[in-house]
Amino acid sequence: MTVFDRERLLFTPASAEPDAIGTIFAFPNEYSVGITSLGYQIVWATLARRSDLRVSRLFTDLHEPLVRSPQLLGFSFSWELDYINILNLLEFLEIPLHSCDRDDSHPLVFGGGSVLSANPEPFADFFDIILVGDGENLLDDFIDAYQEVKNSDYPPGSGKADRQTKLRHLAQVPGIYVPSLYEVTYSSPDGEIQAIAPIDANIPPTVQKQTYRGNVLSASTVVTEKAAWENIYMVEVVRSCPEMCRFCLASYLTLPFRTASLEGSLIPAIEKGLKVTDRIGLLGASVTQHPEFESLLDYLSQPQYDSVRLSIASVRTNTVTEKLAKTLARRDTRSITIAVESGSEKVRKIINKKLTNEEIIQAAINAKAGGLKAIKLYGMVGIPGEEDSDLEQTLEMLQAVKKAASGLRITFGCSTFVPKSHTPFQWFGVNKDAQKKLKWLEKQLRSRGIEFRPESYNWSVIQALISRGDRRLSSVLKLTRQYGDSLGSYKRAFKELKGKLPALDDYVHSDWQTSRILPWDCIDGPLPKTTLIKHLNEATNFWQK
Ligand code: SF4
Repeated sequence: MTVFDRERLLFTPASAEPDAIGTIFAFPNEYSVGITSLGYQIVWATLARRSDLRVSRLFTDLHEPLVRSPQLLGFSFSWELDYINILNLLEFLEIPLHSCDRDDSHPLVFGGGSVLSANPEPFADFFDIILVGDGENLLDDFIDAYQEVKNSDYPPGSGKADRQTKLRHLAQVPGIYVPSLYEVTYSSPDGEIQAIAPIDANIPPTVQKQTYRGNVLSASTVVTEKAAWENIYMVEVVRSCPEMCRFCLASYLTLPFRTASLEGSLIPAIEKGLKVTDRIGLLGASVTQHPEFESLLDYLSQPQYDSVRLSIASVRTNTVTEKLAKTLARRDTRSITIAVESGSEKVRKIINKKLTNEEIIQAAINAKAGGLKAIKLYGMVGIPGEEDSDLEQTLEMLQAVKKAASGLRITFGCSTFVPKSHTPFQWFGVNKDAQKKLKWLEKQLRSRGIEFRPESYNWSVIQALISRGDRRLSSVLKLTRQYGDSLGSYKRAFKELKGKLPALDDYVHSDWQTSRILPWDCIDGPLPKTTLIKHLNEATNFWQK
């Protein structure tokens, strides 16, 4: 029995028509990781429901029997460092790594997912097509447009369309970005971007990220014991987050905040899932902010669901009630994670985190009273405007939490601020003192009985590089693929390519002028740049006073 035979499908794949388009849909990691991605599941099911496609799935460790001579090859790309696996899979399929080296004998390579929606540019050379935004309508629009163009007779007499004709046609579809049809010029090889422009007047000047506005959100299309979360059935409760913390990609990139209808989407989805598993994951950037979250909890608290195991992706601090804690504790959850960012009120104002220390302490008290055993607080150092006294306040806040909820295991997870595209903080660099700040916190917390779990500072630097990278970064990525994914490898690649692209420091640590042309300026995100600058100015007011 293969891994695929063990899957329980919650949709009916179509039988492919004789002239169906051969398509490979890949996840650039192992099967257990890919099949646990709701995004991958949804896109695969959308493609597999179409009788005009013949789809086979490909992962790094296994694959279905692959279609011969595929016309389309797609990647779901949700973790930055998986680019290495994308390049490996292209080689495995004997497809040139660079879009410019492919010809009519090769499939069109398309990609989508959170990494590409945020900033496609470091990967632009590897993809023919990038789908920007929500897939709900975009995927079908893409396939329909491909069907329209594939048999158009260009060049005349050929009986089919050549690669360039297909790409030009697809570039007209809102949300489809064809990087090769945009030219980027620089002030010098290692200087700033001077302009990003379509290669001619027939190509749209910018690409609008697509936003799905329905109130039926997604849910698992497949459940399997081989998933990283064994037998998990995932339900998307909300999309985006209305809080708009100024560094937050999960909020700004996916605005507006949308909620699944309780009666029309959530309950039918959960009932469908519970027919095949007893493990439910509620997903979304800010699940507990669903306006009917209490009713959802009441629904899941019914006695017939006593054996259901429940996980919640994200909980806003001031929504941790005793009732929520009790429901989770009864449903096999022992701990809860909340993002507090900082114990300093000034820093929370800078980032627009609408939270008080009293609310954080109360959340811990409620978690304990509801029967949970542990709480994980998540914070960040290196936030623009942060001073040493702000870190001291974080320490004091953590001690106050420990005192108020004694017996509850407290963990403080801490990352470094990383600038993200389409957010008001995209112009700030990574603070070079962040590593020192993490070390200081580690030392202080060790002696106070609070477990500290810092995220690697070096990993934050790599994230920032990819987050603010432009097309010139693709040569770095190709080198680091051979050197390994440590920060040292990236530094080595930059040294080797000196003079051909800006220094690592410029991408990662420099504060950028708001007048600077950004690598992702050809993509229109949810908010215009003028609004992001307004939000940035509101933030800087808090430390310039
Ligand atoms: S509350 Fe969390 S998800 Fe929402 S904007 Fe703030 S950091 Fe992002």
